[in-house]
Amino acid sequence: MPRESKPAKLVRTRKIIDGLRAAYPDAHCELDHSNPLELLVATILSAQCTDKRVNLVTPQLFKKYLTAADYAKAPSADLETAIKTTGFFRNKTKSIQAACAALVERHHGLVPQSMDELRELGGVGRKTANVVLGNAFNINCGVVVDTHVARLSGRLGFSTEKTPEKIEQDLMPLVPQREWTLFSHLLIWHGRRRCFARKPDCPGCEVKGLCPKIGVKETSSEMNRKDR
Ligand code: SF4
Repeated sequence: MPRESKPAKLVRTRKIIDGLRAAYPDAHCELDHSNPLELLVATILSAQCTDKRVNLVTPQLFKKYLTAADYAKAPSADLETAIKTTGFFRNKTKSIQAACAALVERHHGLVPQSMDELRELGGVGRKTANVVLGNAFNINCGVVVDTHVARLSGRLGFSTEKTPEKIEQDLMPLVPQREWTLFSHLLIWHGRRRCFARKPDCPGCEVKGLCPKIGVKETSSEMNRKDR
């Protein structure tokens, strides 16, 4: 890709956001939840796991564990069994119980509304904190960088970085802060529905005229896909 000036990149990013908003007017967090604690737990469970699988587990889980204290005092084996199908269930149980014990001890059982306080809970990384702040509290503190956002940021020429932290630093100046949460939803929705990890559907892509397709070697039409 020829070197792109900063103003040109900002204009192109704006057009991509507008194109994706038109394609996905309903883009939102796909983890089912009805309060900040549920979203915190669901986000911890979503590591290395699809949102669909998490959504299969959480209805029963949220019925059984209503408060942070419920999670903190539960026998670990019970919680491990309840979340087993999401994978990495021992580590996830530890993270949930550490975070919920800290919520009880320091925040009266409530989920705090700042990055620093969330990170200090233990078991909560920057990505999880960004998800909770953006979707439970409408606070745009950063851009969620998951596997889809990382992949699309490279292909779309937004970032050449490889780590989520550095990719996030490249994305934040490109997008108005009020749109940070929406922006990550748009990239995640596009990554799930069009810009697949293997063989993205570039011919059918809504923003193909704005995308340098960096690193894309093989594409396919969604019509022909059998491996979704
Ligand atoms: S043109 Fe291809 S690589 Fe670029 S965003 Fe669309 S699907 Fe992804």
